[in-house]
Amino acid sequence: MVWKQRIILKSPAEIAIMRQAGRINALALEAVRQAIRPGVTTEELDAIAEEVIRKHGGRPAFKGYPGPYPYPATITVSINEELVHGIPGPRKIKAGDIVSVDCGTIYKGFIADSAFTVGVGEISPLARRLIRVTEEALYRGIEQLRPGNRVGDVSAAIQRHVEVHGFHVTREYTGHGVGRSMHEFPMIPNYGTPGRGALIREGMTVALEPMVLVGTPKTKVKADKWTVVSADGSLTAHFEHTIAVTAHGPLILTVAD
Ligand code: MG
Ligand code: MG
Repeated sequence: MVWKQRIILKSPAEIAIMRQAGRINALALEAVRQAIRPGVTTEELDAIAEEVIRKHGGRPAFKGYPGPYPYPATITVSINEELVHGIPGPRKIKAGDIVSVDCGTIYKGFIADSAFTVGVGEISPLARRLIRVTEEALYRGIEQLRPGNRVGDVSAAIQRHVEVHGFHVTREYTGHGVGRSMHEFPMIPNYGTPGRGALIREGMTVALEPMVLVGTPKTKVKADKWTVVSADGSLTAHFEHTIAVTAHGPLILTVAD
């Protein structure tokens, strides 16, 4: 990944623009969520997200993102054992799948980044619990995004919630600062030690993203060089919001209203 290696604080005016980016991104993700059903292809979902983003004057942030080769799509769609970075294509969603969608929007030069996981039709109790715990872990992390706390407080809150439920957090992919670049410092791992790491300060804008696996913390990358899967084939889930740190605490930017 390409990282801007310093923490860049944002002004209230810049945060207001990121809020607009976050709103567009949320509308795109909501449209995708509504379209997820058995038989829909992942490239159809991708087209829906791109249309919503462009209709509101934004641009897809992931398209062309540098990697093994430039990322080719607006969203990532990661199904079941696929944790992150699944490339949209002709694959059809099936009943019983759990589907993670990640999307980024550029608006007036600033980026918002968000993801969700949803079950399709009837899913197993384990899959339901995995999705619930992963989303809860995101909010446990968000609660810690207060001036004076440290990155380790955020990371540890996420890790604790996931592990107390018997699941695993990835060590290989992290949350991150976000702004004019998609990945800015600080990195925010999904594991850590309270009281350690960079100080959380007013004006920071970050993407928290618990990436949770049922059977192992280990991952591998598929032959397409982008799609990350659990090393043991077990189910995975991913939730993400972009959040601004204000004097009063965390403000989630990637919501529709
Ligand atoms: Mg993301
Ligand atoms: Mg992210």
